[in-house]
Amino acid sequence: MKEIVIAVDGYSSCGKSTLAKSLATLLGYIYIDSGAMYRAITLYCIRYGIIKESIVNHELLIQHLNNIDIRFELNALTGNNETWLNGENVEDEIRKSEVASNVSIVSKIAEVRQKLVAIQRRIGENKKIVMDGRDIGTVVFPNAELKIFMTADPIIRAQRRMIEMTEKGIQTSLNEIVENIKQRDYIDENRDVSPLRKAKDAILLDNSNLTRDDQLNWIMQKVNQF
Ligand code: C5P
Repeated sequence: MKEIVIAVDGYSSCGKSTLAKSLATLLGYIYIDSGAMYRAITLYCIRYGIIKESIVNHELLIQHLNNIDIRFELNALTGNNETWLNGENVEDEIRKSEVASNVSIVSKIAEVRQKLVAIQRRIGENKKIVMDGRDIGTVVFPNAELKIFMTADPIIRAQRRMIEMTEKGIQTSLNEIVENIKQRDYIDENRDVSPLRKAKDAILLDNSNLTRDDQLNWIMQKVNQF
């Protein structure tokens, strides 16, 4: 099989990372969760008072941008790539509600996107990568050999996210999750810079009624064409 770039985009809480991660493991590819990078910058903004009551101090953010170092490191115990922000493992911290409710506001900012897209492209230079996000097939890797755009029924998405958060010991309600998903999708689809869009050449995957194995088999059929 030829070495390729696989872009997995779509709505919040569609199971993009679960599918992308399993696919990368199966292929021996690198898996990159681009959303984790936007979450890490958001966590930084919260900690440094750059975002307050959902309003970003744009000037202050620009001043700080060069001080923000985001990288992924493999956790040998779990086999997962974990997110590090300025030398600290923030993998758990970035999944919390405060970050989730502010991340789409930070992701709208052009300078933030420029910085992260440059890092993402560097990581993908040598192909053999599966990256998930919102603009991977449209902006980050417009020439990706395989592009998937995922969607699912919003209620099913919320229920899945609820189970995931409960498993992680994060307290939340189904209502809070539904609201957060709706709000993030709205902001992601309507922002000026790199809005969430299905690339023309992306293949749509609605996984509302598909198991993880169904999805993996479906995508492997596409991958095997290369
Ligand atoms: O994928 P995840 O839900 O963790 O992403 C969190 C948020 O980061 C998204 O709601 C979106 O606002 C932003 N994001 C983005 N572009 C990406 C990945 C994530 O704007 N490529």
